[in-house]
Amino acid sequence: MAFAQRVRNLQSEGAYAVLARAQELEAQGREILHLEIGQPDFQTFSHISERGIQAIRDGQTRYNPPSGLPRLREVIAADAGERRGLEFTPEQVVVGPGAKPGLFFPTLALVEPGDEVIYPDPGFPTYPAMIEIAGGVPVPVPLVEENNFSFDLQAFDERVSDRTRLIILNSPANPTGGVMPLAVLEHVARSAQKHGCWVLSDEIYARLTYDNRPVPSIATLPGMAERTVIVDGFSKTYAMTGWRLGYAILPEALAERVGLLMTHSVGCTATFTQIAGIEALTASQELADRVVIEYQRRRDRIVAGLNAIPGMRCQVPQGAFYVFPNIKSFGLSASELARRLLDEAGVAVLAGTDFGSYGEGYLRLCYATSPEVIDRAVAHMGDFLGLL
Ligand code: PMP
Repeated sequence: MAFAQRVRNLQSEGAYAVLARAQELEAQGREILHLEIGQPDFQTFSHISERGIQAIRDGQTRYNPPSGLPRLREVIAADAGERRGLEFTPEQVVVGPGAKPGLFFPTLALVEPGDEVIYPDPGFPTYPAMIEIAGGVPVPVPLVEENNFSFDLQAFDERVSDRTRLIILNSPANPTGGVMPLAVLEHVARSAQKHGCWVLSDEIYARLTYDNRPVPSIATLPGMAERTVIVDGFSKTYAMTGWRLGYAILPEALAERVGLLMTHSVGCTATFTQIAGIEALTASQELADRVVIEYQRRRDRIVAGLNAIPGMRCQVPQGAFYVFPNIKSFGLSASELARRLLDEAGVAVLAGTDFGSYGEGYLRLCYATSPEVIDRAVAHMGDFLGLL
């Protein structure tokens, strides 16, 4: 069958393939410890779910404006602005079903065929996919372990040019948990201004940061607000992955274009989901804050466990809920090791190469799971690797 060029190279996310294999093994009666999928292990906070259920009972099940309910756009502008020390208008906010449309539609609105787009590698697989769909040329910039998985700035400088239309940042990052220090953001901001590029700053993990270290947003740097798209959402912070609720904050003229893309694609985001989102942002944040403390404990537990395995080296990530241990000493490719860990040790993890070729030599483990699962997974991995 002949498909349009823009979809020919599309591939699934590695996490889905591993999950399918894990489920196959489970169907054969094997017990599998799941550290592959990146989502919180706890339920959406009940006050948020109840508000959504009530909204359905109240008949809030009809179309609403494509860019989002005015009240939700207002509370997002206030909350996102306050957290970053910036002022946003509700007109700058475009709500969508998940954070993904906030990545995808601004990319479609900005990138012309042939434009180069810089993105982190290893990084979220949606970035190169959406760049290609837009007809752009994906230009990966490696993240380096020694730099706490921040950009290799020399490589960045070699790749950025007047051909670059957009620079994608993700801090805290999937899959490494790395946070980009202010000095790196300042460097990127200077280049963006010099070459007249836009920045797409994926800040979906902005609330999941540890050790009381602030995570700077590039949008706060001088001259950057007018060329930055901030993407954030509810999936990770409030354990709402399946509700599908996220947003982008953009200069108003671009927000209007992105709103039109929403109009002609998804139409609008579910009304009751948005009402639950208003509850999430306006009610007490105590539960969300407590979850962050719990994730930090789990991070410390998994990092200590992995570093106790001879030959494994794991940095302490500053955010998100992933660790990205270095497995180069074991002499197997990341995908081979991930496959054998699943088949022979019953531990489902992802290969670093599921996130780009610079992920070779690493695994990604999601620690948004119970301390018991973390301990058992680390023990099984240690036993298996000890026999290699
Ligand atoms: N950006 C990153 C870096 C992510 O890891 C994810 C979720 N895995 C998303 C965006 C998408 O979030 P959502 O489910 O809200 O669309």
